[in-house]
Amino acid sequence: MAGPLAARLRAALGDGAVLSDPSDIAGYAEDWRHLYRGQPLAVVRPSTVEQTAATVRICAGAGAPVVPQGGNTSMVGGATPSGDGTAVVLSLERLRAIRAIDLVAMTMTVEAGLTLRQAQEAAEAAGLLLPLSIGSEGSAQIGGVLATNAGGNNTLRFGNAREMVLGLEVVLADGTVWDGLRQLHKDNTGYSLRQLFVGSEGTLGVITAAVLRLQPGVTGRIAAFCALPSVDAALVLLNRLRAWDAAGLHAFEYMSGQSLDLVLRHIEGAQRPVAGSDHYVLIELATGGDAAALAGLESGLEGLLAAAMEEGAIADAALSRSEAQRLAFRRLREEHSEAQKRAGASIKNDVSVPIAAIPELLRAAEAACIAAVPGIRVAPFGHLGDGNIHLNLVQPEAAEAAGFLARSDELMHVVNTVVRDLGGSFSAEHGVGRLKTGLMEEWRGGPELRLMRAIKAAIDPAGIFNPGVIFPPG
Ligand SMILES: Cc1cc2nc3c(=O)[nH]c(=O)nc-3n(C[C@H](O)[C@H](O)[C@H](O)COP(=O)(O)OP(=O)(O)OC[C@H]3O[C@@H](n4cnc5c(N)ncnc54)[C@H](O)[C@@H]3O)c2cc1C
Repeated sequence: MAGPLAARLRAALGDGAVLSDPSDIAGYAEDWRHLYRGQPLAVVRPSTVEQTAATVRICAGAGAPVVPQGGNTSMVGGATPSGDGTAVVLSLERLRAIRAIDLVAMTMTVEAGLTLRQAQEAAEAAGLLLPLSIGSEGSAQIGGVLATNAGGNNTLRFGNAREMVLGLEVVLADGTVWDGLRQLHKDNTGYSLRQLFVGSEGTLGVITAAVLRLQPGVTGRIAAFCALPSVDAALVLLNRLRAWDAAGLHAFEYMSGQSLDLVLRHIEGAQRPVAGSDHYVLIELATGGDAAALAGLESGLEGLLAAAMEEGAIADAALSRSEAQRLAFRRLREEHSEAQKRAGASIKNDVSVPIAAIPELLRAAEAACIAAVPGIRVAPFGHLGDGNIHLNLVQPEAAEAAGFLARSDELMHVVNTVVRDLGGSFSAEHGVGRLKTGLMEEWRGGPELRLMRAIKAAIDPAGIFNPGVIFPPG
């Protein structure tokens, strides 16, 4: 029974825009990891900015919480409503127009519900590059990637989502629309309000559209898959690559032997292209030049890898000789989340430390986790070039999933103790969501959390947007 609020929303937006039947709303009520199951009062799917604003106005008038939702790929339960049947899920999935692509300013203006992949494809069709790339890009939406300040494989070269935002359009807590869709590359007129909404995880307003900064198009890419003798060797290799061609280096991704083994075991068709090792990296280089430029990149990389191998910094390496091979290498990196899901229960830690501390992070965290749970499969992988590792823990082969998951907080604490000692962060790119609110007081307490609460109170005084996310209770 959705009641009078759903009826009011239907009257304003039309029947098709408001779902309340349990079978229709099930997919919006749960996160993809099945960690959280909520109970929305209704799911509203506006198809215009005006309808989005009307939804917020009506919900605010009724005192109903609003949970903005994009592709629902959050790793931290950020888009799942509470279980008490009071919240309205506001899905942006029908707001997905490409409003403009400006070839001179190199920008695109897109609506929040467009998937990241659709936006990438539109940029590519215009001869430009939207350089944000994450494993969930086929489902994650522009509003979601901005609200979480997503990172991904190309952060090393182009920065996080934040760096790509020139302008935003946002529905505010009283239902007014802030049109901040400026295309300006420079605009120092007071506080940068758009950056407040980027990374705010749906707690300050509903992003309905954005102006994104694009890059010159890429005409060719090559990849190398390398087996390394140690993680320290990965840092040496990274520095060599940067010194040689920092502009062409788009990704430098780490995979532990344990994590790649899970991919080889659980993902159909996955094959290791190099000799077995405890450490691997995937290198991706790109050029916007002609065939000769690509050939130059390839021979340069080949020479660099051969020299590194002679010095013992690389144990084995394979260079992609075709686009199909490059995609096969990339797949070996992208399937880690799926492989770990199939391998049993897993506990995810998306942590960052200063890059030089990565070897110590991996050594100390692995030792501490094995001491806590003998047989645990410590399966780290991730964006080594950004100091960001997904330090995931997979249950021991013979263990019982529920018993392992019951120790989540304890094991996260084991990892986070190491991260903290190394000056790192407990969430590098996935955000806080519902999953990690309990850590905010300890890690961000004092002036930081006080300022965050003051900003929340100023922008969303009644607290209607995504309660239970980011802030610890109280
Ligand atoms: C296989 C896989 C790989 C991933 N790889 C990466 C990765 O490499 N890097 C990375 O950073 N993340 C990664 N993620 C996490 C996730 O995909 C990102 O957090 C993504 O940015 C979320 O987008 P979404 O549209 O699915 O947002 P949702 O999950 O729907 O929402 C995420 C948060 O944003 C808020 N939100 C959504 N839309 C809006 C809006 N229009 N206005 C205001 N708030 C909104 C929600 O309330 C919620 O708090 C991965 C996830 C998966 C499943």
